[in-house]
Amino acid sequence: EVTGSTIPALDGGKGKWALFVLHDITRQKRLELVRKEFVANVSHELRTPLSVIKGYVETLVDGHHEMELADRTRFLATIHRHTERLNSLLEDLLTLSRLESINPGLQRESTSLQSLVGGILEDYRGRPAAEHHQIDGDIDPAIEPLLIDPLKLTQVFENLLDNALKYTPAGSRIAVSAKRRTSEIEILVADTGQGIPEADLPHIFERFYRVEKGRSRDKGGTGLGLSIVKHIIQLHGGRVSVDSTVGQGTTFILTLPAGKTTHE
Ligand code: ADP
Repeated sequence: EVTGSTIPALDGGKGKWALFVLHDITRQKRLELVRKEFVANVSHELRTPLSVIKGYVETLVDGHHEMELADRTRFLATIHRHTERLNSLLEDLLTLSRLESINPGLQRESTSLQSLVGGILEDYRGRPAAEHHQIDGDIDPAIEPLLIDPLKLTQVFENLLDNALKYTPAGSRIAVSAKRRTSEIEILVADTGQGIPEADLPHIFERFYRVEKGRSRDKGGTGLGLSIVKHIIQLHGGRVSVDSTVGQGTTFILTLPAGKTTHE
């Protein structure tokens, strides 16, 4: 990529301008490439469940008279599962496109992190999927109320907890903790699960990136969950990072600005 700083200005600043234009074109090309890749990914993701649904429906339409009840039920269950897949894909795509729009609709209100996380963890402890997991919370009660969008932050925790449950074997521990660090609040969502290989770590916040495609799909993943997490945290002026060791576990680190108790 060409930038103004790598090549000296040619004729009294005009060259610099030309280089700037060149730089801008490269940026546009890159954006265009990202957009094309995104459309290709979306089409691919939609095609698989749609073709399964189409195939099973056609078989049922043609042959349901001769089919055993058990087979019909099995076919319908498969159709249902793939319809759910399409549904979560569309929901996640809509959420992402809203988050990326000019007005992402952030509705900040003074929120106690302790009660927000407490409520979410209570809900997760009652879920059948969490039956064999230990779920702990440790939010420093001294953290003052934060001016955040509680619904969007709930989605962040749900996406991270869903992943923690999906990618950790029974018997694992999941812990959400938070403490104040000077002017920031640091929130950790940690699990003792399978971990993420080092080579994949720089990519996991990218749209549709999955470490194991098959495994993620089988578990109902869209590959968009972490992308949504990153967008929501950045909208709040925060940052997200990840620390993981294969076979030991994964920790997501969310950093939010502290002390925002009034509107900016
Ligand atoms: P998905 O819908 O596939 O879960 P995400 O964007 O939420 O998509 O996550 C991207 C990928 O990162 C996942 O497919 C999975 O491979 C990996 N991943 C996310 N969270 C964890 C975790 N807690 N432990 C291990 N791997 C994880």
